[in-house]
Amino acid sequence: MSIDYQSLAVKGVQALSPYQPGKPIDELARELGLNPDNIIKLASNENPLGPSPKALAAVRAGLDELCRYPDGNGFELKQALAARFGVEASQITLGNGSNDVLEVITRCFADQESEVVFSQYAFAVYPLVTQAIAATGVSVPARGYGHDLDAMAAAITDRTKLVFVANPNNPTGTVHGAEAVEAFLERIPARVLVVLDEAYCEYLQGDGYVDGVALLEHYPNLIVTRTFSKAWGLASLRVGYSISSAEIANVLNRVRQPFNVNNLALTAAAAVLDDEAYLQRSRDVNAEGMKQLETAFDEMGLSYIPSAGNFIAVDVGEQALDINQSLLEQGVIVRPIAGYGMPRHLRVSIGLPEENDRFIESLARALDKRQSSESGQGA
Ligand SMILES: *Cc1c(COP(=O)(O)O)cnc(C)c1O
Repeated sequence: MSIDYQSLAVKGVQALSPYQPGKPIDELARELGLNPDNIIKLASNENPLGPSPKALAAVRAGLDELCRYPDGNGFELKQALAARFGVEASQITLGNGSNDVLEVITRCFADQESEVVFSQYAFAVYPLVTQAIAATGVSVPARGYGHDLDAMAAAITDRTKLVFVANPNNPTGTVHGAEAVEAFLERIPARVLVVLDEAYCEYLQGDGYVDGVALLEHYPNLIVTRTFSKAWGLASLRVGYSISSAEIANVLNRVRQPFNVNNLALTAAAAVLDDEAYLQRSRDVNAEGMKQLETAFDEMGLSYIPSAGNFIAVDVGEQALDINQSLLEQGVIVRPIAGYGMPRHLRVSIGLPEENDRFIESLARALDKRQSSESGQGA
């Protein structure tokens, strides 16, 4: 007798579809027989500068210790983060990427009876971690492409345990200012935890900057999550963290794996925090690249969603998948976001100036090709 093992999976997992990551360069090279050296990847919001030299030096120095378990408490990194943000080390929870922390939070505070609130077009991990534990995800219609914070506050019920707010949000790049976020937090009952996902906060410069950490004092139900994957340039090492009350951190600490952050990640993350020049360069390259793409989109008559992150979603029309295919054939990897309910948009990460140029030229070619094939069909 054969068993349907899929049916043995727990309720939430049976209907789960896995997270769709950006296509790796080597995979595209294999699929289309392209030279990987000629492929550019602008699909996962990675830092185009490459890692900080300080991180590289730390990783090299840590290689001799590969045989040892890492420090399960991440003492040094927590000290460095605590000093930087003016919090206690006991308020920090480290994760194997902030994705890990998001999952641990969900498992700690929600179950099958719970509702978890997030926005339409919000980061895909929120519905994923919610469904994995068979909690009920409540997707609140966006306003424009951004979070409708009023509607999200209004969506809270007796069963709501968690609210996820990505600020800035991925894949839309929309952001709320300090005032809006505070007004929102005022409306959330203290028994409901608010996860403010600040994966891109390092890119926010100037006015309207929301510092989630500064809000912790007033809102004990707040958990701020951040990552070393984006502006800090360590996506491959997988290291992120949350800052919350020590009480909440203590709960998260019970469920996270004892050695969830490896030693190279711990040491590189601590080292890169000292590299303020790298962070500033990351911001500058991003701001310039953002302008470069916006200008090109304007010239091409394409509309886009103004973004506060290191990526931008551009409306390329109904044939977005064909355009994406043409980009792939030209060795340019970006991210289609039909899975987010945005079938006309492609999300492109900001690259180095020459990478942005290459993307723009390839996109122009893809759009031309589509137009000529359309007129060809009509003739
Ligand atoms: C990239 C991203 C993360 C997490 O990335 P990690 O690499 O797991 O730290 C979290 N939230 C948002 C909105 C992101 O875009």
